[in-house]
Amino acid sequence: MITVKTIKDVRKMVREARDKGQSVGFVPTMGYFHEGHLSLIRRAKAENDLVVVSLFVNPLQFGPKEDLASYPRDLKRDQEMAFQAGADILFTPEAGEMYPSNFQTFVEVAEISQGLCGESRPGHFRGVATVVLKLFNIVAADRAYFGEKDAQQLRVVRRMAADLNLDLQIIGCPIVREPDGLAMSSRNVYLNPEERQAALVLYRALQTAKQSIENGERDPQIINRRMQEIFLAEPLAEVDYIAIVSSETLKPIVPLSGEVLIALAAKVGKTRLIDNMTIQIDS
Ligand code: AMP
Repeated sequence: MITVKTIKDVRKMVREARDKGQSVGFVPTMGYFHEGHLSLIRRAKAENDLVVVSLFVNPLQFGPKEDLASYPRDLKRDQEMAFQAGADILFTPEAGEMYPSNFQTFVEVAEISQGLCGESRPGHFRGVATVVLKLFNIVAADRAYFGEKDAQQLRVVRRMAADLNLDLQIIGCPIVREPDGLAMSSRNVYLNPEERQAALVLYRALQTAKQSIENGERDPQIINRRMQEIFLAEPLAEVDYIAIVSSETLKPIVPLSGEVLIALAAKVGKTRLIDNMTIQIDS
């Protein structure tokens, strides 16, 4: 595996591979890898000849009071893990390489960016869409891999790819969890031992929702209330939002039917965590 820092170098290597007829898989990340990231890299390796992983903590998608400065970073560790998982190229640009001083173009994916995380993090998906389109233009891939963990992000990227006629396939991959159910996240390192235990409340709330639906409940308000009650029993956690919506449009469906997304965000101590689950309702 080779680590490259410039747009010019990564472009050249991808072009050479494509000229040889090789297929290219791309995994955009912000680094500090865990099994969630590695599952995407392994899938990309299984389906493509060349795998490019980008590691870029994108300033544009962080709000002024968010954790850009403290976001966990460990390049050596990430290089080793990406290599073991099958990455061929690790692209690690500096912020100045991606956003030179006269940068002034932004991508806005309107409707699907609203609500859920879009409401709590104004400008977040504009930052995501902008950097992802730039990365797609830099790394001319056949397939790009995203986790269902960031459910709204995946839908924003899919919408952008369709609306702007991007010539690549967007592939969604399942959420990887710790054995006790906590969704893996680079931000989990912020949690102290009590918070780590308290963080299980997100998964518990999702399980409660799933159980309610399996028991025949179709009223999202009632399910929402049951989930809120789970959170009330956990003093270290505070709900940001709970959304029970159409998995496709992220809009409410009452009564619930079809593919439903149950998504939530909560603060555990100072750490904001997200998680979600999709459930198919046939009747
Ligand atoms: P990040 O570095 O957090 O921006 O994540 C990079 C990619 O990995 C995104 O497509 C995420 O959705 C995906 N990802 C992060 N955590 C997980 C997880 N626990 N399971 C599956 N995919 C994940």
